[in-house]
Amino acid sequence: MDHHRIPPNTHVDLSKIESRYTGETSKKEGQAQLKKFRKELIDLQELLFAENKRQLLIVLQGIDTSGKDGTIRHVFGDVNPQGTRVVNFKVPTRHDLAHDYLWRVHQHTPAKGEIVIFNRSHYEDVLVVRVHNLVPNTVWSKRYLHINEFERLLADEGAIILKFLLHISKRTQAERFLARLDRPDKNWKFNPDDLEERKHWQDYQAAFEAMLSQTSTPWAPWYVIPSDRKWYRNLAVASVIVETLKGLDMQFPTAVPDIESYRGKLEAILADDPT
Ligand code: AMP
Ligand code: MG
Repeated sequence: MDHHRIPPNTHVDLSKIESRYTGETSKKEGQAQLKKFRKELIDLQELLFAENKRQLLIVLQGIDTSGKDGTIRHVFGDVNPQGTRVVNFKVPTRHDLAHDYLWRVHQHTPAKGEIVIFNRSHYEDVLVVRVHNLVPNTVWSKRYLHINEFERLLADEGAIILKFLLHISKRTQAERFLARLDRPDKNWKFNPDDLEERKHWQDYQAAFEAMLSQTSTPWAPWYVIPSDRKWYRNLAVASVIVETLKGLDMQFPTAVPDIESYRGKLEAILADDPT
């Protein structure tokens, strides 16, 4: 899955990255592999939590309908909710806007042993903010460097950071909007404003490309995930996360000294207990 990773300081042209890509895998094989990864993730999360040394931050970005919510459900559906958190970044409140843009983000970063998934993130401050000129160019253009240094701080303090851009075609987006009209249980997800936002498609692609080129670092790499096929998107994201966690070579903490000496004590307690 390493071929989806963007090397630092590379120019990225998203129109050259095939959003329908599914590699050599068939859908059936891919779904079976995902099942295996989901199981492995249960054990790896438990180990991360038990070891309590490192923390994992996952950043999900992507245009409307790219599948951020679905990825979270399909990849993390089995893990222990204790020790795993999802944080959704919506339009900043007045209170948020009274601070610097990283202020609301920093308070949600993972603690040791924890996995935190950002559904949207501080990257909105160089995406929607750039596309809609919510702050001047002179302000947002400095943010790529701030973000790299912010993420370096987190990484220096033990965080593993993985960032995924869910890449879909413009046609796929239209099909997915339509699907929201077709299914009564998905109607609630349809927002006419999203069609307005779609008019800025090219500006978003340019903003994504600048983000990828400037903020994929050795300590916090970006992966561009072909996401027209939902099964492949889930598989690719799960694979990167599982392989990264395996690579940490985590160990369960050592037991208290003389753990066996407590066996006799506990057996005596049970033997004595009349209830
Ligand atoms: P959604 O997650 O699709 O329900 O909507 C969240 C909305 O909040 C999206 O339209 C984002 O672009 C917007 N949003 C998130 N972060 C920011 C930000 N820092 N500034 C402006 N809008 C934001
Ligand atoms: Mg939306």
